[in-house]
Amino acid sequence: MIKLSNFPIKTLKTRPQISDNISTSILLQAWFIRQTMAGVYNYTTLGLKVLRNIENIVREEMDNYWSSEILMSWLSPMDIWEKTWRADIDEYFKVPTYGDKNYRLNPTHEEIVTPLMTEFINSYKDSWASVYQIQTKYRNEKRAKSWLLRGREFIMKDAYSFHITDEEFVEYYEWMKKVYMKIFERLELLDDTYITLADGWVFTEKYSHEFQVVLPIGEDEIYICDSCWTSHNKEVVDLENWFECTKCKNKDHRIEKASEVWNIFPLETKFTKPFWMKMLDANNKEQDVIMGCYGIGVSRLMWVIAEYNMKDKWIAWPESVAPADYYIIVIWEENIEKAEDFAKKLESKWKTVILDDRMWKKVGFGQKAGDCELFWIPRRIVISPKTLEQWGFEFTKRWEKSEIVNF
Ligand SMILES: [Zn+2]
Repeated sequence: MIKLSNFPIKTLKTRPQISDNISTSILLQAWFIRQTMAGVYNYTTLGLKVLRNIENIVREEMDNYWSSEILMSWLSPMDIWEKTWRADIDEYFKVPTYGDKNYRLNPTHEEIVTPLMTEFINSYKDSWASVYQIQTKYRNEKRAKSWLLRGREFIMKDAYSFHITDEEFVEYYEWMKKVYMKIFERLELLDDTYITLADGWVFTEKYSHEFQVVLPIGEDEIYICDSCWTSHNKEVVDLENWFECTKCKNKDHRIEKASEVWNIFPLETKFTKPFWMKMLDANNKEQDVIMGCYGIGVSRLMWVIAEYNMKDKWIAWPESVAPADYYIIVIWEENIEKAEDFAKKLESKWKTVILDDRMWKKVGFGQKAGDCELFWIPRRIVISPKTLEQWGFEFTKRWEKSEIVNF
């Protein structure tokens, strides 16, 4: 359990003016995050809980669908980036070391995962091999913002899959779209999420797919077909010839502002060829390996969920990511033991608990109740002399009437 007496939590009465973004200001006000510099954040106890809850939903769904978790290195030598002609990209942090050598702080992991997996992958029987990691990534952003969206340092889930034929790759790729939609459903973002066709960049002639959440302050513009709901990133819409849906050729559409939370890319053989990754087919012939990559911006997702669920003064976290299931307020020092016992009972039923046992600094009931609201904990319990007189505690589910429940 989280005991607030053990953590010097000091929620602010008003929103700090550090950020021009309201949901980030609320996260700062509630002590979920603290900024080191623009685009670089620390997560304090409750913010970390939210982040871990998001991470775990992603992890569970990836594990369910046969991708294996690994953890790759943060640093890498320059020469592996030279193999794929990506050594001199400005957005990649170079780390000087002894002599005139440089390392890279990895902004992405294709150059690490491909040689790593080459060791394991031999034949068509290894097709569908898929690994993922959840890790901090670094990007040398010129204009990092004072909110979580555009970071120099951010947490990502990146997955990579390897296939012997295009058909197998396409099957896996379509499957991964479904896994991602399942994750969106659990994060309660599904209603406003669009799989959006986007530029394939240098990797492929094909489109890549972005998962865009409609948000008024989103940084992208998406064009949604009125007829088949296919969504297109502005960058792939031929604006000179008006909009025409790439799927059904319909011209009627609406334009929405949206924020990208993840993307999936067909990488074809762009990385497997330079690293000599091959698979033997059923006739024992060497074949090129087709690769796909599947990203999710985990820290960005925290911000998108915050922005999406922002109410007047709070962020109304969905239950699946809220910092805890229960918030217990204790009145009077002699009742702490009783409250702790009750918290343990809840934990034995796999519930998470914040125990507000701040007694010594004159933190009154009003502030405790206010903090419970600001953190947006769905269930509140008050244990006080008054409730104990009735052999119970006061239980309040958000938006419902309080009631006394016996222990
Ligand atoms: Zn259409």
